[in-house]
Amino acid sequence: MGTEFAETVVIGGGQQGCSVAGALSRLGYQALVIERGEIGQAWANERWDSLRVNTPNRTVAFPDWPYDGDDPEGYMPAREVAGRLRSYVAAMGIQVREHTSVRMVEFPIDEALHEGARFRVRLDDGDVVEARNVVAALGGYSSPRVPEVAAGVDLSVTQLHARYYRNPESLPSGAVLIVGAGNSGQQIADDLRDAGRDVYLAVGGHKTAPRRYRGAQILDWLQLLLPEGNLETASGGQPGGRGDSPVLPGVSVLSGKDGGQDLSLPILAAKGVTLVGSVRGAQGGVLVLEDNVRAVAQAAAHKESELLKAIDAAIEQRGLVVPAADPSPEYDPSLIKDYGGTLDLVANDITTIIWATGFVPDYGILPAEALDQDGLPVHRRGMGTLPGLYYAGLPEAGSVMPLLIAATRNQAERVARHIQMDNTLRHRSPMAIGGLWT
Ligand SMILES: Cc1cc2nc3c(=O)[nH]c(=O)nc-3n(C[C@H](O)[C@H](O)[C@H](O)COP(=O)(O)OP(=O)(O)OC[C@H]3O[C@@H](n4cnc5c(N)ncnc54)[C@H](O)[C@@H]3O)c2cc1C
Repeated sequence: MGTEFAETVVIGGGQQGCSVAGALSRLGYQALVIERGEIGQAWANERWDSLRVNTPNRTVAFPDWPYDGDDPEGYMPAREVAGRLRSYVAAMGIQVREHTSVRMVEFPIDEALHEGARFRVRLDDGDVVEARNVVAALGGYSSPRVPEVAAGVDLSVTQLHARYYRNPESLPSGAVLIVGAGNSGQQIADDLRDAGRDVYLAVGGHKTAPRRYRGAQILDWLQLLLPEGNLETASGGQPGGRGDSPVLPGVSVLSGKDGGQDLSLPILAAKGVTLVGSVRGAQGGVLVLEDNVRAVAQAAAHKESELLKAIDAAIEQRGLVVPAADPSPEYDPSLIKDYGGTLDLVANDITTIIWATGFVPDYGILPAEALDQDGLPVHRRGMGTLPGLYYAGLPEAGSVMPLLIAATRNQAERVARHIQMDNTLRHRSPMAIGGLWT
């Protein structure tokens, strides 16, 4: 067990962590990436088998590594993202220590063994790394969140969080209830329904958007037209804590399946999914529901039309020449009806509950002074509150766009530039920093 030194330790070998290391290596700096699983662990091992990205393939790009496939507008399988990340790491010569967990990060440190060290990174194998910079890229969607009501459900019912769902065959026979109508909830409901399973979906607040709108991918309009007043934030983001602390709003429900599809409650109901209200309580085999299916569906439809109106207004304001909007698909309103106040699991042969109730970031390994009262990291555009502490892949100003693959390159290059400035000022005259931007 020794104490080694790394100028920069990156915690997390996902897209953000590896990209920061890639951006640094392009500037001539070597970082040590420490990953508790394998490179791209979340894409490789923590998502269901049929998952595809729901953002265009061309966004799967890393610093100095643009998408080079032959289907830029397609949606690759989730596992392929991990494979591309692994190729990137190999090609860029990035040092990744896999299957190694960071147990704790200490700051400040006394009696550092290495000149310039500011952090002591303790690993689960007992080893220690002293570092001048620490980049925490632990992911926003790292810890599954399961509501307390789950404890009241009869033990005979199989329960799991969406993070652990893999495929229909892995579940016991019988009907499946999915709780939560965000991206994971609706996509898993679709996956199970397409496998012929009886599916119940307990709704919750969410946003939808058409996959394509007025000839372009919705994500592009959001990125190019609405970055300032991004409705992805306006209708759902709630900044928590100080600065940009991340309480995670969801992104619009979109599917990458079969070449990219729209997904919404009316679409799932038309496929035979039974919509029930939000789960508010559990007494053994009976769930107490809020009778709000219609209200939730109407709220999502309203947000979607607001989003499209904002895009139309921005297009008009700029006088952009784009095709007119296609008429929005008509849905049979009778498909969306309130279910009632209770759901009898036994009577409906529901043998499994999948909690698609989101994630919370888990940054508990960091020094307390880096976190807010909710234990969440405090940062401003990736800069932490401690000198030398940086983040990649956290929401900013309530927007979750920075968590998306498409934002990875910018996030990584921004952090790398901060580290480059620190290094330049340590080893050269301050005059040299002019060269960092001109
Ligand atoms: C189901 C799902 C589907 C998504 N689909 C899309 C999509 O289609 N398009 C899109 O743009 N975005 C999508 N996202 C959002 C986002 O792109 C992903 O969450 C992505 O994995 C985030 O990358 P990351 O590097 O920030 O975090 P992660 O991929 O979560 O990587 C963080 C890494 O840190 C490691 N780690 C954590 N703690 C420690 C520790 N103590 N020591 C060492 N290592 C540690 C973890 O093992 C993990 O590998 C999706 C998210 C989810 C949950």
